[in-house]
Amino acid sequence: RAKELGKNRCVRFDASMNQAMVRRQAIEQALRAELEGGHGLALHYQPLFSARDNALVGAEALLRWTHAELGNVSPLEAISVAEDCGLIVPLGYWVLRTACRDASRWQGRHAHPLRVAVNISARQLGDPQFLEQVMDILRAEKLPADLLEIELTETVLMENMEAGAYTLHRLSQLGIHLAIDDFGTGYSSLAYLRQLPMRRLKIDRSFVRDLPAQEHSRKIVTAIVALAHGLELEVTAEGVETLEQAEYLVEQGCDVLQGYAFARPMPVQQFVELQASH
Ligand code: C2E
Ligand code: MG
Ligand code: MG
Ligand code: MG
Repeated sequence: RAKELGKNRCVRFDASMNQAMVRRQAIEQALRAELEGGHGLALHYQPLFSARDNALVGAEALLRWTHAELGNVSPLEAISVAEDCGLIVPLGYWVLRTACRDASRWQGRHAHPLRVAVNISARQLGDPQFLEQVMDILRAEKLPADLLEIELTETVLMENMEAGAYTLHRLSQLGIHLAIDDFGTGYSSLAYLRQLPMRRLKIDRSFVRDLPAQEHSRKIVTAIVALAHGLELEVTAEGVETLEQAEYLVEQGCDVLQGYAFARPMPVQQFVELQASH
């Protein structure tokens, strides 16, 4: 009886593993087709606001993918598959080029320049062509380097510590801004904060969610802001969903706010329309 149960469990485990593999293969195939000339990939832009005066200061580009059979594939799933099969490199360049093109086009309508933030994954930073490709894209799309911000997670930084450091210094010398995304959720070595030319820390959504009620979250936010400002870095809070959270984060000295309380990620046309009223 026990043996039978064990056997069944084993069969179910294999079946679900197989199902996951089949899905990843389907995603890989579909993604390859998209990159060879499909129309399912898009970027949405989530507005970023200055905590000081509520001014619009830029947007974060976020991948969106709708596929005929697969439906909406979340960026985390798409990126994870793309990382495993190597498609992250062409996908990453598509994201970077599209974001720089959109940002180049949206300049000049607003009272001040609006920066675009782009997420970069581990294998992209490790690609020997990365630096050159970024420079090519900025030149081709006519976007000033200081209007591009690159977001890297702590994990991405740790996986590329040696080769990545040179690339990051060069990017920074060119004027590109560098930010650490989801700060506080990765490996907590603080060495790279001094060694790398970072401009910004983005407080992870998990520390914002329970503000201002939860003491633990309050202490972490206070500590991250003190650390960042001590190192002359700006602080963005992500995942701000309520005005109460926003108020608390402003009080604590956060520089930029991002979240559903202000605006959700939106198509570029909508972001351009929003600029008129902010
Ligand atoms: P992220 O870079 O930390 O981006 C912020 C995520 O939080 C986005 O999820 C955004 O839609 C969501 N968000 C923003 N405000 C709120 C809020 O108030 N409440 C809640 N609950 N969520 C909020 P999204 O678009 O699903 O992206 C998830 C992650 O996927 C991103 O996290 C990033 O790590 C990755 N990603 C997205 N686009 C790209 C890309 O083009 N390249 C790479 N390498 N990664 C990407
Ligand atoms: Mg990000
Ligand atoms: Mg983030
Ligand atoms: Mg996050």
